[in-house]
Amino acid sequence: MQTHLLGYPRIGSNRELKKACENYWSGKIVLDELLEVGKTIVHSNWNLQKEAGIDLIPCNDFSYYDQVLDMTLTVGAIPERYQEIAFKKSEPDLYFAMARGFQKDGLDITAMEMTKWFDTNYHYIVPEFQKNQEFRLFSNKIIQEFISAKQAGINAKPVIIGLLTYLLLGKEKEEGFDKLDLAQNLLPVYIQILKELENHGAEYIQFDEPFLALDLNEKAKKTYQLIYTEIRKQFPNLKFILATYFDGLKDNLSLAASLPVDVLHIDLVRAPEQLDEALQAIPQTLSLSLGIVDGRNIWKNDFETSLQFIEKAIHAIGSERVFIAPSCSLLHSPFDLDSEKNEDILSPEIKQWLAFAKQKVYEIVALKKLASGKADYQALQQYAENKKAIDARKTSTLIHNQQVKDRVEVTTEDDAKRNNPFSTRKEEQQKVLQLPMFPTTTIGSFPQTKEVRTWRSKFKKGELTAAQYDDLLKKETERTIRWQEEIGIDVLVHGEFERNDMVEYFGEQLEGFAFTQNGWVQSYGSRCVKPPVIYGDVHRPHPMTVYWSQYAQSLTQKWVKGMLTGPVTILQWSFVRDDQPRSLTCQQIALAIRDEVNDLEKAGIRIIQIDEPAIREGLPLRKSEWQQYLEWAVEAFRISASGVEDTTQIHTHMCYSEFNDIIQNIADMDADVITIECSRSQMELLQAFADFKYPNEIGPGVYDIHSPRVPSKEEMIYLLQKAQAVIPAQQLWVNPDCGLKTRHWDETEKALIAMVEASREAAAAYVLQES
Ligand code: GLN
Ligand code: ZN
Repeated sequence: MQTHLLGYPRIGSNRELKKACENYWSGKIVLDELLEVGKTIVHSNWNLQKEAGIDLIPCNDFSYYDQVLDMTLTVGAIPERYQEIAFKKSEPDLYFAMARGFQKDGLDITAMEMTKWFDTNYHYIVPEFQKNQEFRLFSNKIIQEFISAKQAGINAKPVIIGLLTYLLLGKEKEEGFDKLDLAQNLLPVYIQILKELENHGAEYIQFDEPFLALDLNEKAKKTYQLIYTEIRKQFPNLKFILATYFDGLKDNLSLAASLPVDVLHIDLVRAPEQLDEALQAIPQTLSLSLGIVDGRNIWKNDFETSLQFIEKAIHAIGSERVFIAPSCSLLHSPFDLDSEKNEDILSPEIKQWLAFAKQKVYEIVALKKLASGKADYQALQQYAENKKAIDARKTSTLIHNQQVKDRVEVTTEDDAKRNNPFSTRKEEQQKVLQLPMFPTTTIGSFPQTKEVRTWRSKFKKGELTAAQYDDLLKKETERTIRWQEEIGIDVLVHGEFERNDMVEYFGEQLEGFAFTQNGWVQSYGSRCVKPPVIYGDVHRPHPMTVYWSQYAQSLTQKWVKGMLTGPVTILQWSFVRDDQPRSLTCQQIALAIRDEVNDLEKAGIRIIQIDEPAIREGLPLRKSEWQQYLEWAVEAFRISASGVEDTTQIHTHMCYSEFNDIIQNIADMDADVITIECSRSQMELLQAFADFKYPNEIGPGVYDIHSPRVPSKEEMIYLLQKAQAVIPAQQLWVNPDCGLKTRHWDETEKALIAMVEASREAAAAYVLQES
């Protein structure tokens, strides 16, 4: 039996890579200094695994920005617009230009697109393909990393994105071809890379092919056969590991098992049921790598369960054919639990249930010892400790709250329904709210200036008293309310100055959530996120937002919109407990948000927004599982929104608006008003709502807040006209694409003044046209 890892986090134990990259980009350090930081991280990762006793240590899992972009550079798929930079600048500068765009020395070149890596919160740089795309070995990073591992005394296992997965991740930038047709062009470059690695003494190669766990068409399946057969023909002696993860192989199992590789890695955390099938399906020549330690969550592995998996595999195919590993790359795990030293932030009781990347490495090593009957004293002790922690978690009073469980039990379908249908509610709401045509509003946050952030950090450090901090926030809120009144916005917001982050703010006030000091996970490039940990039954001990909403409402005669984060988004952007279904955790959060919605209503707030920007990204990878997810996700939203009277108007907001395939579910959420991102596509995204004849009200964003550019009144009128062409005017709201917290006040002021004017002119034109 052998142990291995699919990849290790690369940001460094103190986010050194983030700091070094940002310093390099801003010119504070030179390239050599950046490379030195990278080298130190790579070597310390290798040493850690070596000392722990991992058999196959990965290399080329490190990246300065993104592993897909690394591959793009390796195979020379450099889009035309970077040719000049490629010619004039160093390889790293070309690389960062592709990742971040380039605006210097008289050049102005846009970055490559970025999108989510499967269903994780990691974002990769999307390869761009042309019809006659050519490839050549451009960067030899893979080979360099292998050589430097060798010099460090490690015969590493290079990690390479599989050829098919690389193509499938990309985007066709012109019409008239299928990216899969490029496989034959790309193959020679892969062969060249493998030749060089073999010449330098590589023994194992890992091909990441997560697409094998997704829905594949016939052509893709055929191409898989073709390409791997060809690779095998050229390299009879290299040992190939085919890594699949994030879902089960399901209908692709026979395909995967038939590919001429040496080891097949399967994700037994996401799809434990596939072990039996896989053991049946694999031929004698194939070994099986069991992904048993969760690479995407922070819970300690349950040794007892894992050992059962391993024993079953050994029994079926013999220990020489069994490998053990984390389910996927540890890129998605925080670095090291040992750096959580502050017991006031993470209590020892909860900490003992957790394992970050470093701890997961030691889990894998201990499992091997325990499973092979060669457990030393240390491993036996680790087993005893593991059992104790797992048992303690099962019964901890911190986790289980009978009242919460009882309440979920008695929640019925009726709780997820408003009293009356939208058509009735619309009339009732209009009687109370008295809003004009094309009502204007914003998405919630106003600029989080440096001052606002400084107040918060001073307050946290104790340099400001609670009263002082409160006072400063109140002044900022009042100023924002006054300003919105002045420019004539119809539905105001309080500005969210008291919030650090739209999930953390709620998590900190809910029971069942824990936070870490250093639990950073790479999101994209140098950006990291620190998701909260949902460890127990969730409930709301006290109101969370009523204070600020009520204060803001007390300042004005206009309506102020209450602002909440929805249950699906809170779930999606946290580390979630693994001892109950996600749907149940989501329902608990929904009930907590419902209480908040009801309390806001009691406090006189008549319009309440429940943000759900993450509802689409929660979609399972396999289409066959979408419906089940959408059912519970939509129901959770409805539970949170349905405790109010007809006269209270519920809004929701979503940032990514590709809703074509889930528009029915969006409609099922039954929010009175939905605001969506729409300006980048010039209202194209609205078409889905038009085709569906979406019945409720919609605010398609007319102002792209992701850019510092200030749109003109005319542009916004134009977008509003486009919207009116497909959606009845009575259904339309006027608002920006998203919250304004990352913008500056001067841009915000200009853009919103123009937006209000655009709405008024559109209303006047409408009246004229109707008369
Ligand atoms: N209300 C939030 C804000 O305005 C919504 C943010 C989001 O959609 N991501 O900041
Ligand atoms: Zn948004």
